[in-house]
Amino acid sequence: MSHRAKALIVSCMDFRFQDAVNDFSEDLRVEGSYDLITIPGVAKNLSRPDSDELKNYLLNTIEKSYQLHDIAKVIIINHQDCGGYEKYDDEQSERVQHFTDLKKAGKIIEGNFPELKVKLYFANIKEKGNKREIDFEEVK
Ligand SMILES: [Zn+2]
Repeated sequence: MSHRAKALIVSCMDFRFQDAVNDFSEDLRVEGSYDLITIPGVAKNLSRPDSDELKNYLLNTIEKSYQLHDIAKVIIINHQDCGGYEKYDDEQSERVQHFTDLKKAGKIIEGNFPELKVKLYFANIKEKGNKREIDFEEVK
């Protein structure tokens, strides 16, 4: 019996994003059919890893997802105000670093798994009173 998933999502462990990522999976048309890896810092673990172990863990898990569930794409979602990242004085330099890391991580995945499509997103947090909105922006 085969268990196929449409995609693998790699996102942060941060509790603020779990419901939003699941909702976003509907926009991505992979709802109910994605494997999930959560790891603080997300793309940084490939582009500027603290250790080779972290990078290899991610690449090995992507490979498992591909072998076991025959996924067609990997969706990487970084987010604003991430505890896995350095602190930034301004939003612009934070964005630049995340976008750079996402693009580099995408290239690394494509290099290791040429048959997989890679999609990159950056989640912006909008605080409105005590309501929090998450807005997913595609990074190309
Ligand atoms: Zn985070």
